[in-house]
Parts: sequence; C-alpha cells; structure tokens
Amino acid sequence: MDDLVYTRATSIDEALSLLDRHGSKAQLLAGGTDVVVGLREGRLAARVLVGIEALEGLREIRVDGGDLEIGAGVTFTTLAGDPLVRELAPALAEAASLVGSPQVRNRGTLGGNLGTASPAGDTFAPLLAHEARVSLLSRDSRRTLSIDKYLTYRQATCVERQNLIDRVLVPIPREAAFRSVFVRLGRRNALAVSRMNLALLVAFEAERPVRARMVLGAVGLVPVLVDGAEKEILTERGNELVRGTVGCAAAAVAGSLGDRPSAPYKTRAVESLVREGLRRCGLID
Ligand SMILES: Cc1cc2nc3c(=O)[nH]c(=O)nc-3n(C[C@H](O)[C@H](O)[C@H](O)COP(=O)(O)OP(=O)(O)OC[C@H]3O[C@@H](n4cnc5c(N)ncnc54)[C@H](O)[C@@H]3O)c2cc1C
Repeated sequence: MDDLVYTRATSIDEALSLLDRHGSKAQLLAGGTDVVVGLREGRLAARVLVGIEALEGLREIRVDGGDLEIGAGVTFTTLAGDPLVRELAPALAEAASLVGSPQVRNRGTLGGNLGTASPAGDTFAPLLAHEARVSLLSRDSRRTLSIDKYLTYRQATCVERQNLIDRVLVPIPREAAFRSVFVRLGRRNALAVSRMNLALLVAFEAERPVRARMVLGAVGLVPVLVDGAEKEILTERGNELVRGTVGCAAAAVAGSLGDRPSAPYKTRAVESLVREGLRRCGLID
C-alpha cells in the first residue's frame, strides 16, 4: 500500500474528473468498510483513492415527484433512522439496521454497498422489492438503471471504474396502503453477513392485497424475484397461502443455486423467512 495516494474530492465533478484522469488506477472511497479491507487483503489494485465521504450532495434524502431519492453517501445508520425511509421504504430501513456492527453502520454507505455488490449485500432485496433505480454518473453521461439491471451489469462487467452512483430512486407505492419488510437469516454474530434474506412488499386497496413482490437475497450472485408469489398472495389465504408461497420460494432458491452445496439447506430454511415475511405483512397470524 506504500504507493497509494488519497485525494479528497470537493465536488461530484471533481470526483468524476479524478476517476477519468486516473482510469483503472482510481477507486472511489466512501465509508471505506469494503475498500480498506480489500486493500489490506491485496484484493484491490487501486493506486489512487478518490474520497467522496465529505460530499454533502451525496447525503440527501428527499421526495421528488413519485420517488424517494436517497443519496449514495447516506450511511446505514441514517437509512435505518430516517423518517422518510422508514415510511416509504421500510424494508430498506430495516435491512440497514441489521448490517454488521454500529461502527460499520456509521461508516458504510448505500453507494458502497452497491459499488461492492457482494451477493450477500443486505440492501439489494429491499431495493428490488421496491423496484428501485440506480443513477450512475460518468464525466460525460448520466444513466439510470433498474436495480436488477444494475446488479447484473455490475456482476458481468465490474462496472467501469469511471462511474459514480449519485443516488438511488425508490418509487413511492401508488396504492392506498402498503407494507414492506426485511427478514434475514444469519448467524447471530453481529458481524456475520446474511446467509439468506427476504424482502416482501405488499400493497393494499380496501385492505385487500393488490400487488406483491417477494425477493430473495444471497441465493446467488443477484437477488431473485420469486415467480408466482404475487399470484398466491393475491388469491390464497391461510395454510394455502403459506404452502403456495413457500413452494414458489423454494423453487426460486433451487433454480438460483443449482447444485451448490448450500442449496439443500437454503431450500428448507426459506420456509421460515417466508412465514415471517407473510406474518409481518399481516397476511397470516
Ligand atoms: C465487519 C463488517 C461487517 C459487514 N457487514 C455487512 C452486512 O451485514 N451487510 C452488508 O450488506 N454489508 C456488510 N459489510 C460490507 C460493507 O460494510 C458494505 O458493503 C458497505 O455498504 C460498503 O460501504 P462503504 O461506504 O464503506 O464503501 P467503500 O468501502 O468506501 O466502497 C465499496 C465499493 O464501492 C465503491 N463505491 C463507494 N461509493 C460509491 C459510489 N457513490 N458510486 C460508485 N461506487 C462507489 C468503491 O469504489 C468500492 O468499490 C460489512 C463489512 C465489514 C467490514
């Protein structure tokens, strides 16, 4: 790490210029909870760290039109406690509250979670349940990708280093009422990453479910929208609902993990996540 240079960007434009100028040698540094570990372990080859942790413009949370806009530099601690996030994307606030330890939550950011895009990242299932979009800047362009496209693209290409995520857009559900929850299966050690997690969003009209998105995280490189779960939630009740949604979720786990060693365990363990998600969305007792 001897020849590593740290430069603190004073604006988003300056950060983009530095990324552009140093190309593959440059790496953004937000909270550093992944970057510092990666450098210590020799996994990252960066020679120029572009510090963006001081950029106020990346820390805003606001409602704009039909979206909740969350700056990429918002920490997990802020996400977990922010009234707008808790009201409009409760599963995301809950996921953030369960990340790592207080130290990691105080420094780690939403943009850093997306930048690393670890298969076990805790924010992705809630973001996919809420159909979030990721806004990416480079020196000469702005693109907005759906979260699933972003993650697939990130896994395939490692995203060009010249990209900076400035914010995440979470659509505000248009229905009269909704619930969204996050359930995580992990070792009870505060520093263990999720073994598997589930986010469930259910929207209601006149107290009846009219839309639902069940997503499983940490069951492969990218989170999976559970096929068939919405139909079960809109049409079934009680034991039939549990049986149907657990079946859909188990099929999604099996389809995503194939013959990986964790598949038999996760295919069975998903039942407790689904039951807990349904119960907390008020669909079963
Ligand atoms: C002890 C420990 C426990 C952890 N527990 C969890 C956990 O329970 N759940 C979980 O999901 N994660 C966990 N993590 C991982 C880590 O905390 C998260 O991934 C965090 O979100 C990273 O954010 P950061 O701001 O620290 O990112 P950094 O380390 O600064 O950056 C991470 C990556 O993202 C890039 N990046 C940062 N900001 C941007 C941006 N705005 N645009 C584009 N790229 C960007 C960086 O270049 C780098 O590649 C843990 C880490 C540690 C060390």
